[in-house]
Amino acid sequence: MHPDRIRKPIPSKLSAGTQKRKPITACIRCGTCCQKGGPSFHHADKNLIEKGIIHSRHLYTIRRGQLAYDNVRDCLMPVDSDIIKIKGKKDSWACIFFEEDEKACRIYANRPLECRVLKCWDTREIEKIYAENRLTRKDLISEVKGLWDLIKDHQGRCDHEKIHKWVKALDSAIKKEARKELIELIQYDTEIRKLVVSKAGLDAEMLDFLFGRPLIETIENYGLNVEQSGKKISLMSTSRRKK
Ligand code: SF4
Repeated sequence: MHPDRIRKPIPSKLSAGTQKRKPITACIRCGTCCQKGGPSFHHADKNLIEKGIIHSRHLYTIRRGQLAYDNVRDCLMPVDSDIIKIKGKKDSWACIFFEEDEKACRIYANRPLECRVLKCWDTREIEKIYAENRLTRKDLISEVKGLWDLIKDHQGRCDHEKIHKWVKALDSAIKKEARKELIELIQYDTEIRKLVVSKAGLDAEMLDFLFGRPLIETIENYGLNVEQSGKKISLMSTSRRKK
Protein backbone atom coordinates (compact mmCIF):
# COMPACT_ATOMS: atom_id res chain seq x y z
CA MET A 1 0.00 0.00 0.00
CA HIS A 2 1.38 3.44 -0.97
CA PRO A 3 1.51 6.16 1.69
CA ASP A 4 -1.07 8.91 1.09
CA ARG A 5 0.16 11.98 -0.76
CA ILE A 6 -0.28 15.47 0.69
CA ARG A 7 -0.04 17.48 -2.51
CA LYS A 8 -1.27 16.98 -6.02
CA PRO A 9 1.84 16.05 -7.99
CA ILE A 10 2.99 18.58 -10.55
CA PRO A 11 3.97 16.71 -13.71
CA SER A 12 6.43 19.34 -14.96
CA LYS A 13 8.47 18.73 -11.81
CA LEU A 14 8.18 14.97 -12.12
CA SER A 15 9.11 14.69 -15.79
CA ALA A 16 11.63 17.46 -16.24
CA GLY A 17 13.51 15.50 -18.93
CA THR A 18 10.49 15.40 -21.22
CA GLN A 19 9.73 19.06 -20.58
CA LYS A 20 13.22 20.08 -21.69
CA ARG A 21 12.81 18.36 -25.04
CA LYS A 22 9.43 19.90 -25.80
CA PRO A 23 8.23 22.76 -23.60
CA ILE A 24 4.49 22.67 -22.88
CA THR A 25 2.54 25.93 -22.81
CA ALA A 26 -1.03 24.58 -22.77
CA CYS A 27 -2.76 21.39 -21.63
CA ILE A 28 -2.10 18.59 -24.12
CA ARG A 29 -4.39 16.16 -22.24
CA CYS A 30 -1.56 13.73 -21.52
CA GLY A 31 -3.40 12.75 -18.32
CA THR A 32 -0.23 12.67 -16.23
CA CYS A 33 -1.59 14.93 -13.46
CA CYS A 34 -4.70 12.73 -13.04
CA GLN A 35 -2.65 9.53 -13.12
CA LYS A 36 -0.31 10.86 -10.44
CA GLY A 37 -3.14 11.51 -7.95
CA GLY A 38 -6.47 13.18 -7.28
CA PRO A 39 -6.91 16.63 -5.75
CA SER A 40 -7.34 17.74 -2.15
CA PHE A 41 -10.48 19.73 -1.38
CA HIS A 42 -10.76 23.39 -0.46
CA HIS A 43 -13.68 25.51 0.79
CA ALA A 44 -14.41 26.45 -2.82
CA ASP A 45 -15.26 22.78 -3.45
CA LYS A 46 -17.71 22.39 -0.56
CA ASN A 47 -20.82 22.61 -2.74
CA LEU A 48 -19.59 19.75 -4.95
CA ILE A 49 -19.91 17.45 -1.96
CA GLU A 50 -22.99 19.09 -0.43
CA LYS A 51 -24.88 18.86 -3.71
CA GLY A 52 -23.83 15.22 -4.14
CA ILE A 53 -21.90 15.89 -7.36
CA ILE A 54 -18.98 14.17 -5.68
CA HIS A 55 -20.21 11.61 -3.14
CA SER A 56 -18.40 11.01 0.14
CA ARG A 57 -17.86 7.37 -0.86
CA HIS A 58 -15.45 8.76 -3.51
CA LEU A 59 -13.39 10.54 -0.85
CA TYR A 60 -10.95 9.70 1.86
CA THR A 61 -9.47 11.74 4.69
CA ILE A 62 -5.85 12.09 5.69
CA ARG A 63 -6.40 12.80 9.37
CA ARG A 64 -4.66 15.59 11.29
CA GLY A 65 -1.25 14.38 12.45
CA GLN A 66 -1.18 11.45 10.02
CA LEU A 67 2.03 10.82 8.11
CA ALA A 68 1.62 11.39 4.39
CA TYR A 69 4.07 11.61 1.53
CA ASP A 70 4.98 15.18 0.59
CA ASN A 71 6.03 14.94 -3.04
CA VAL A 72 7.71 18.35 -2.95
CA ARG A 73 9.85 17.62 0.13
CA ASP A 74 10.15 13.95 -0.91
CA CYS A 75 9.48 12.52 2.55
CA LEU A 76 6.70 11.50 4.94
CA MET A 77 5.33 14.47 6.93
CA PRO A 78 2.56 14.77 9.55
CA VAL A 79 -0.34 16.83 8.16
CA ASP A 80 -1.50 19.83 10.19
CA SER A 81 -5.23 19.52 9.49
CA ASP A 82 -7.63 17.10 7.83
CA ILE A 83 -6.98 16.77 4.12
CA ILE A 84 -9.91 15.44 2.13
CA LYS A 85 -8.97 13.86 -1.18
CA ILE A 86 -10.51 11.97 -4.08
CA LYS A 87 -9.71 8.27 -3.83
CA GLY A 88 -7.28 6.61 -6.18
CA LYS A 89 -7.95 3.55 -8.26
CA LYS A 90 -6.98 0.16 -6.86
CA ASP A 91 -3.19 -0.23 -6.62
CA SER A 92 -2.39 3.07 -8.36
CA TRP A 93 -2.37 6.79 -7.68
CA ALA A 94 -4.73 7.51 -10.61
CA CYS A 95 -7.83 9.50 -9.65
CA ILE A 96 -10.99 7.36 -9.70
CA PHE A 97 -12.62 9.85 -12.09
CA PHE A 98 -9.89 9.53 -14.68
CA GLU A 99 -10.83 7.57 -17.82
CA GLU A 100 -7.59 5.94 -18.96
CA ASP A 101 -8.73 5.12 -22.53
CA GLU A 102 -10.12 8.56 -23.30
CA LYS A 103 -7.59 10.42 -21.15
CA ALA A 104 -10.58 12.33 -19.80
CA CYS A 105 -12.11 13.41 -16.51
CA ARG A 106 -15.59 11.99 -15.79
CA ILE A 107 -16.51 15.10 -13.77
CA TYR A 108 -14.65 17.67 -15.90
CA ALA A 109 -17.34 20.39 -15.69
CA ASN A 110 -17.36 20.01 -11.90
CA ARG A 111 -13.72 19.21 -11.23
CA PRO A 112 -12.35 20.56 -7.93
CA LEU A 113 -10.33 23.77 -7.57
CA GLU A 114 -6.87 22.15 -7.62
CA CYS A 115 -7.66 20.45 -10.94
CA ARG A 116 -8.90 23.72 -12.40
CA VAL A 117 -5.81 25.75 -11.44
CA LEU A 118 -3.14 23.11 -12.09
CA LYS A 119 -1.10 24.05 -15.14
CA CYS A 120 1.97 21.87 -15.36
CA TRP A 121 3.76 24.50 -17.45
CA ASP A 122 3.16 27.24 -14.84
CA THR A 123 2.77 26.05 -11.25
CA ARG A 124 2.46 29.44 -9.54
CA GLU A 125 -1.32 29.28 -9.08
CA ILE A 126 -1.45 25.75 -7.61
CA GLU A 127 1.49 26.51 -5.32
CA LYS A 128 -0.38 29.57 -4.04
CA ILE A 129 -3.60 27.77 -3.17
CA TYR A 130 -2.68 24.18 -2.31
CA ALA A 131 -2.35 24.74 1.47
CA GLU A 132 -5.03 27.46 1.75
CA ASN A 133 -8.61 27.04 2.97
CA ARG A 134 -8.55 23.29 3.14
CA LEU A 135 -11.91 21.63 3.62
CA THR A 136 -12.15 19.42 6.72
CA ARG A 137 -14.61 16.79 7.94
CA LYS A 138 -15.83 19.36 10.50
CA ASP A 139 -16.88 21.72 7.67
CA LEU A 140 -18.97 18.96 6.15
CA ILE A 141 -20.49 16.90 8.96
CA SER A 142 -20.30 18.77 12.26
CA GLU A 143 -24.06 19.30 12.11
CA VAL A 144 -24.82 15.60 11.87
CA LYS A 145 -24.89 15.29 15.64
CA GLY A 146 -24.45 11.61 16.54
CA LEU A 147 -22.08 10.92 13.67
CA TRP A 148 -19.90 13.93 14.42
CA ASP A 149 -19.61 12.91 18.09
CA LEU A 150 -18.46 9.48 16.99
CA ILE A 151 -15.85 10.97 14.64
CA LYS A 152 -14.56 13.33 17.33
CA ASP A 153 -14.29 10.42 19.76
CA HIS A 154 -12.42 8.34 17.17
CA GLN A 155 -10.10 11.24 16.34
CA GLY A 156 -9.31 11.72 20.04
CA ARG A 157 -8.66 8.04 20.76
CA CYS A 158 -6.74 7.33 17.54
CA ASP A 159 -4.92 10.65 17.49
CA HIS A 160 -1.77 10.32 15.38
CA GLU A 161 0.36 12.25 17.86
CA LYS A 162 -0.55 9.61 20.42
CA ILE A 163 0.22 6.82 17.93
CA HIS A 164 3.57 8.42 17.14
CA LYS A 165 4.39 8.61 20.84
CA TRP A 166 3.63 4.89 21.37
CA VAL A 167 5.60 3.91 18.27
CA LYS A 168 8.64 5.74 19.64
CA ALA A 169 8.13 4.03 23.01
CA LEU A 170 8.52 0.62 21.31
CA ASP A 171 12.25 1.15 21.67
CA SER A 172 12.10 2.17 25.32
CA ALA A 173 11.71 0.54 28.74
CA ILE A 174 7.91 0.67 28.35
CA LYS A 175 7.84 -1.23 25.05
CA LYS A 176 5.35 -3.85 26.33
CA GLU A 177 2.89 -1.15 27.32
CA ALA A 178 3.45 0.67 24.01
CA ARG A 179 2.76 -2.50 22.01
CA LYS A 180 -0.41 -3.18 24.02
CA GLU A 181 -1.66 0.40 23.55
CA LEU A 182 -1.04 0.32 19.80
CA ILE A 183 -2.80 -3.02 19.40
CA GLU A 184 -5.79 -1.71 21.38
CA LEU A 185 -6.00 1.37 19.15
CA ILE A 186 -5.90 -0.78 16.01
CA GLN A 187 -8.61 -3.06 17.45
CA TYR A 188 -10.81 -0.08 18.38
CA ASP A 189 -10.34 1.49 14.92
CA THR A 190 -11.24 -1.82 13.24
CA GLU A 191 -14.29 -2.45 15.44
CA ILE A 192 -15.82 1.04 15.15
CA ARG A 193 -15.83 0.68 11.38
CA LYS A 194 -17.59 -2.67 11.53
CA LEU A 195 -20.08 -1.29 14.05
CA VAL A 196 -21.21 1.77 12.07
CA VAL A 197 -21.84 -0.44 9.05
CA SER A 198 -23.61 -3.28 10.84
CA LYS A 199 -25.56 -1.28 13.47
CA ALA A 200 -26.00 2.19 11.91
CA GLY A 201 -26.28 0.96 8.32
CA LEU A 202 -23.61 3.31 6.93
CA ASP A 203 -22.19 2.61 3.49
CA ALA A 204 -18.82 0.84 3.98
CA GLU A 205 -17.45 2.90 1.07
CA MET A 206 -17.79 6.04 3.24
CA LEU A 207 -15.55 4.80 6.05
CA ASP A 208 -12.28 6.15 4.62
CA PHE A 209 -13.86 9.60 4.49
CA LEU A 210 -15.41 9.44 7.97
CA PHE A 211 -12.50 7.85 9.87
CA GLY A 212 -9.55 8.11 7.47
CA ARG A 213 -7.94 4.99 6.06
CA PRO A 214 -7.85 2.07 8.54
CA LEU A 215 -5.11 2.21 11.15
CA ILE A 216 -4.28 -1.37 10.29
CA GLU A 217 -3.01 0.03 6.95
CA THR A 218 -1.69 3.49 7.89
CA ILE A 219 0.43 2.04 10.73
CA GLU A 220 2.73 0.93 7.88
CA ASN A 221 3.87 4.55 7.58
CA TYR A 222 5.47 4.14 11.01
CA GLY A 223 7.39 1.10 9.81
CA LEU A 224 5.03 -1.43 11.40
CA ASN A 225 3.02 -4.26 9.90
CA VAL A 226 0.02 -5.94 11.43
CA GLU A 227 -0.36 -9.71 11.39
CA GLN A 228 -3.77 -11.12 12.21
CA SER A 229 -4.65 -14.60 13.32
CA GLY A 230 -8.37 -14.76 14.13
CA LYS A 231 -8.94 -11.92 16.60
CA LYS A 232 -5.29 -11.84 17.67
CA ILE A 233 -3.24 -8.93 16.33
CA SER A 234 0.57 -8.84 16.33
CA LEU A 235 2.76 -5.89 15.40
CA MET A 236 5.88 -6.52 13.33
CA SER A 237 8.61 -3.98 12.53
CA THR A 238 9.52 -3.46 8.91
CA SER A 239 12.92 -2.32 7.63
CA ARG A 240 11.45 1.21 7.19
CA ARG A 241 11.15 1.78 10.95
CA LYS A 242 13.71 4.26 12.18
CA LYS A 243 14.99 3.81 15.70
S1 SF4 B 1 -11.11 15.09 -10.76
FE1 SF4 B 1 -10.81 14.93 -12.97
S2 SF4 B 1 -9.27 16.49 -13.47
FE2 SF4 B 1 -9.15 16.13 -11.24
S3 SF4 B 1 -7.56 14.54 -10.96
FE3 SF4 B 1 -9.57 13.49 -11.11
S4 SF4 B 1 -9.77 12.94 -13.28
FE4 SF4 B 1 -8.18 14.53 -13.14
